[in-house]
Amino acid sequence: MKKLLVLFSLLPTIAFSNETILVQGAMDMEVDYMISQLQNANKEHIGSWTFWKGKMGDNNVIISRTEIGLTNSAAATTLGIEKYQPTLIINQGTSGGHDPSLHQGDIVLGEKIVNFGAFRTEHKDPNIAPAMQDQLFFDVVQRLRNEDNQQEKYTHFSSDPKMLNKAIHIPYNHGKVIKGTIGTADQWNREIERINFIHKQFGTSSEEMETSAAAQVATAYHIPFIGIRILSNSEIHSEEFNPDTAQWVQSFVVDFIKALK
Ligand code: SAH
Repeated sequence: MKKLLVLFSLLPTIAFSNETILVQGAMDMEVDYMISQLQNANKEHIGSWTFWKGKMGDNNVIISRTEIGLTNSAAATTLGIEKYQPTLIINQGTSGGHDPSLHQGDIVLGEKIVNFGAFRTEHKDPNIAPAMQDQLFFDVVQRLRNEDNQQEKYTHFSSDPKMLNKAIHIPYNHGKVIKGTIGTADQWNREIERINFIHKQFGTSSEEMETSAAAQVATAYHIPFIGIRILSNSEIHSEEFNPDTAQWVQSFVVDFIKALK
């Protein structure tokens, strides 16, 4: 009996080590290093989207090239879930800094993930100038139905707290690793006042174009999710896109996956 109890108390740890992990990146440069680290890789296409299935340590890993933007990201996530039934989804890649305390090379773990591109405006008469300050956040695009068929609105999505606490301890030497807010929109913003406005409204650490869409689909399917974004550029500090950062964050993600045991 005692032996059985010991066995049961070990079970959660055992279950943790055999994940099926869907790891996403939008562009070739955001998936190529991870593909090179995959054992017995098998490539599969569905529509516009490509998946590489193989092994990384004890885990089954499917690398998904989502392509750019929210629509591509949502479609690739849905297909990846239906085809491979992942137990964990990681969305990773590059992003642009919104928080002045962050620099190129720093990594943001998405404690909060928000679609900052969704807004509505109140009526204005002709000749009244539009102003971004008057935009109102439109959370209906982050609405899901729960099991009881009730609509639930989200102001943001979240990464799995257990995964966040694992990831924050992964050694990394190109910058710092912080828990923060990843902001998603089909936008690339370079106007400092606009960046400051979004940062003030949403507390965004950085912006990119895929994470909230993937997080939303993962939430709908109740699959643990984590968003991991490196700052590849920061307009605030005149730091231009550095392609090396795409490899640094993939290397961090590979270490994270190998530590999941
Ligand atoms: N040069 C690329 C286009 C990149 S689009 C091409 O021609 O194909 C932006 C991609 O990089 C998105 O996948 C997005 O997630 C990421 N990204 C990095 N920095 C960004 C920023 N400052 N704003 C928006 N997206 C950013």
